Parts: sequence; structure tokens; C-alpha cells
Amino acid sequence: MRILNYIGGALQEPVSGSFLPNICPATGAIYGELPDSDERDVALAVAAASLAAPAWGKTSPEERGNTLQRLADLILENLDEFAHAESRDNGKPYLLAREVDIPRAAKNFSFFASAILHEGDHAYHSDAETLNYTHHTPLGVVGCISPWNLPLYLLTWKLAPALASGNCVIAKPSELTPATAFLLCRLATEAGLPPGVLNIVHGLGAKVGVAIVEHEKIRAVSFTGGTKTGADIASRATKSFKKLCLELGGKNPALVFADCDYPQTIPALVRASFTNQGQICLCSSRILVERSIYERFVADFVHAAKKLVVGDPMQHQSNLGAVVSEAHLEKILSYIALAREEGGTIHCGGERLDLGGALSKGYYIAPTVITDLSTACRVNQEEIFGPVVTIQAFDSDSEALEFANATPYGLAATVWTSNLSRAHRVSQALESGIVWVNTWMKRDLRTPFGGVKQSGMGKEGGFEALSFFRDTKNICMKL
Ligand code: NAD
Repeated sequence: MRILNYIGGALQEPVSGSFLPNICPATGAIYGELPDSDERDVALAVAAASLAAPAWGKTSPEERGNTLQRLADLILENLDEFAHAESRDNGKPYLLAREVDIPRAAKNFSFFASAILHEGDHAYHSDAETLNYTHHTPLGVVGCISPWNLPLYLLTWKLAPALASGNCVIAKPSELTPATAFLLCRLATEAGLPPGVLNIVHGLGAKVGVAIVEHEKIRAVSFTGGTKTGADIASRATKSFKKLCLELGGKNPALVFADCDYPQTIPALVRASFTNQGQICLCSSRILVERSIYERFVADFVHAAKKLVVGDPMQHQSNLGAVVSEAHLEKILSYIALAREEGGTIHCGGERLDLGGALSKGYYIAPTVITDLSTACRVNQEEIFGPVVTIQAFDSDSEALEFANATPYGLAATVWTSNLSRAHRVSQALESGIVWVNTWMKRDLRTPFGGVKQSGMGKEGGFEALSFFRDTKNICMKL
């Protein structure tokens, strides 16, 4: 697959003429290439977007909504092609891409296509003679930068509200997973998105990402990725007073109380820990278990984790596929080595797997469960972002909260209990942007989504996302 940039409605080679290799994580083989773009390609994309912005910003919500709904429909019509491409590019099981990633990408567009038909401005009658009302305008040209773990799902989670609220977009998918963003360009044209409204520039963060963040005509950047990258973006963006939404890393705790519905908690937490090879920002990575059920929980959880099948992502029986890259595999293995140094006990996994044949150079690692580590150790403090979880015992609600809140992150937590008042009390005391009680990864797109502390700044989802991509003006009238 030879990937090209999408600028002004046309597919284009990068100005540099250089391409980067695209690697299939399941086999470790190069299977295509993508543009090694730089600030010159971003400048071309911004010029195209600036030309398109006045007309697109003036279209009616209905017209924009219809175009985005057509795009959603086209994604679903091409579900199989997209799911294959996502699985091959990322290493995730094909079934997961087919059942979750790609349908959710379509839903992102449908959701915001409809949301813009149901919103209104606010009016304030201050006194008998004065009326204030708010007036919203699109920002113009905005940037969307996304990571590799849920490639199309997270890219469209930004594109949909940005386009729906009347902006033109310069998007940069991860250089590790560019395929489905490339396929999307064809459908954008087919759906009737005018040239220049959506522009996709491929390449490295240090070149394309930085050029987007530093471009003076780009009014806002919505970014999802690592906390370190988010800090770099924040420091560069303040120079031009860009609006920023940063969705960053996590180290998510799961709090398991002795009064939980035990038979449903074990499989739910196995899923929360290892789905997508543990490479979902919302995955649980630190399981905290009340001491009275700790031994039983560790035995049952390890037993269930051992039953998961790591295999060819294209095979339906594979629960886990490959992790995204060799560098990421090495990072995960280095944390497992660190866990050993820090005194941890590895109950299962812990090694690279050789699946043989065509897959022998793929990036496979078995679900790994570690105990006997303290809250303060690096393995329990730093994001690993792989199929690795630690389990720790606690003695009281307050100790559970102390352990849960003891990292710089605050993205997503889960609470497992049948005690209603504890569920509320603990949820409210958790330093976390999202809390699920007795469930995981149930998403309602109207709810605010985003982390606290070093897990992010600003919220995505629902009207919050639409409002991020707009300027708000107050108009005060004497009647
Ligand atoms: P990353 O930060 O390395 O890269 C994310 C994107 O930013 C990529 O497109 C990359 O090319 C680009 N980029 C890199 N350096 C840049 C720079 N200096 N300026 C501008 N852009 C730059 O993250 P990743 O490894 O692709 O993704 C994994 C991380 O994403 C994990 O930390 C994970 O927790 C996080 N994540 C967070 C959420 C969330 O909603 N909070 C969701 C998914 C993933």
C-alpha cells in the first residue's frame, strides 16, 4: 500500500519526495510506505484549508450533517476493507477492528452529524431592558493529531466534531498506523466533502506534528497521545495562544472490593486489562484487591489470563494480536525486566512469543500478571501500555483510594462493589476523569471524555467537543 497525503481534495506525494516504511506488526515485514512529509506539506494543507474555510463555515448544520452522515454510511459499507487494513497496520485482532474500531469511527461521524441539529445558543434576559445572547463561530483551520492504538476510532473522534462545527482540518495520523486514514480520503471525496475541508498529512511527529502545532494560521490543536508529547505541544502552542485539547497517558486503577459480584468481575477485568493487547488508554493496569479475597482473586485472574489466545490477528480465535512495533515491544519487555528487579513475581507471560512460520518476526507478548510490587515502584507509576497488569492488596477503603490516587495520572478508574454508598463515595474521591462502576468501556458519546492531572487537559465528547472547536461571543443588546 503506497499512502499519499490528501490536500485540497487530491492525493499528493510529499514535497520532499521521501517515504517511510510501513510495517505489519503481525509479521514484522514492511508492506507499504507513507509520506515523510514536513512543514512544506503542512503549509500546502493550511493554504487549501484556508481557501475552503469561509464557504464550509457558512454551510447550514443540516448540509454539514448530511455530508458527515454520508461519510459514516460509506465507512460501514466498506467495513471489511477498513477492518482488514486496521488489523494489518496495527496488529490488533481483525474481529476487534470489525466489531469495535471501524463501527465506532462511523458512529463518531453520525453522532456529530446529528448533534449539530440539536444544539442551541444561550440567551440571558438580564433585566427588562437588556438581552445577552451567545453567538458561536467556527475557528477556521484546526489541527487534529492522533495516536496508533485506535487509529481510525480516535482520529474520527476529533475530525467529526471539528468538521461538524464548521472548521477545516489538518489531520496527522500516527506514522505507525496511517492506512485507514488514507482509505478515509477516498470516502471523504465520495461523500461530497468539498476540497480543502479535510486535509491529511502523513509523517513523523517531529516534522509534521510540530509544523501543525507551530503554524500560526491553525487556531486549535486537538491531540491524543503520550503525556511527554502533550507537554511538548503545550509548550510550543502557547506562543501562538492556540486552543488546546490534550488527551494523554494513564495508569488506570481497578478497585476490587470483597463485596463485588465476583463471577462477573474476573472476566470483566481480564477484558479491561488485555483488550487490544492492553493498548487502550482506558485499560486497567493496576488492580487493587481487598485483602480478604486477594489470594483467590490472583489465582482466578491468572488462570483466566493464561487461557487467552495470542495469535494471528486475522484468525477469529485470537484474543490478542501483536503489539504495534518492535520499539514498543522492547519497551514493554524492559518494564517486565524492571518488575523483576523491583522484586515483582511474574505469574504468567513475561516473554516475547515466537508464533512460528510467517509470524515468527511479529511482535507478540503473552498477557503478563505481576504481584508483590509497591505502589511507589516505577512499574506501578509509569505507563507501560501493553498486556501487563499488577495486582496489589489493600486493607481498607481509604488505603484503596490512597493507592489508586498515588500516580501522576488520572484518566480512567473502575470500581467493583455491590455496596451502593461505597460505589458513590469511592468514585467521587478518585482522582480520575472517568470512573466505571461494575463495568468497563461502556461509552455514551454525549458524556465528557478526558483525564485529570497528567492525563490531560480539556474534554472531548458531546457538546464539549463542539464547543472546543468554536469561538464563543456574547452579544449584549439594550432593548
Ligand atoms: P505519541 O505521543 O508518541 O504520538 C501521538 C501522535 O503525536 C502521533 O501522531 C505522533 O506522530 C505525534 N507526535 C509525536 N511527537 C510530536 C510532537 N512533538 N508534536 C506534535 N505531534 C507529535 O503517542 P503514541 O505512542 O502514538 O500513543 C500512545 C499514547 O497515547 C499512550 O500514552 C496512551 O495512553 C495515549 N492515549 C491516550 C488516550 C486518551 O484519550 N487519553 C487515548 C489513546 C492513547
